[in-house]
Amino acid sequence: MEEGLIKRLMTSIKCGVCGHRYGVDNINVLSHDQDLWFLSAICSSCHTRCLIAAIVREGKAPEVITDLTEAELRRFRNAGKLTADDVLDMHDFLKNFDGDFSRLFDRGRFSK
Ligand SMILES: [Zn+2]
Repeated sequence: MEEGLIKRLMTSIKCGVCGHRYGVDNINVLSHDQDLWFLSAICSSCHTRCLIAAIVREGKAPEVITDLTEAELRRFRNAGKLTADDVLDMHDFLKNFDGDFSRLFDRGRFSK
């Protein structure tokens, strides 16, 4: 899947704050790992920045995901139940996370 195509797909997403659609030029691909893409978008209307996680599978009609979409719901529906350990792991991660998403996502950047 090409970055340009991913960006075009993301233009169907609306800003969560003002409802304005994102433009291709306002979307950046941060990282991707197989079907999972992380993007940042800046609303050209209200300038709010948002982070988008999208699962896009080739050979199928692409599904754009922000917050919980059908593809994500399907994925989580088939995933195991969240355990107390999962919550503790996330708690530990967030406690030590400095908020630098760029660095986090850069680790796996285009390594595939
Ligand atoms: Zn906006």
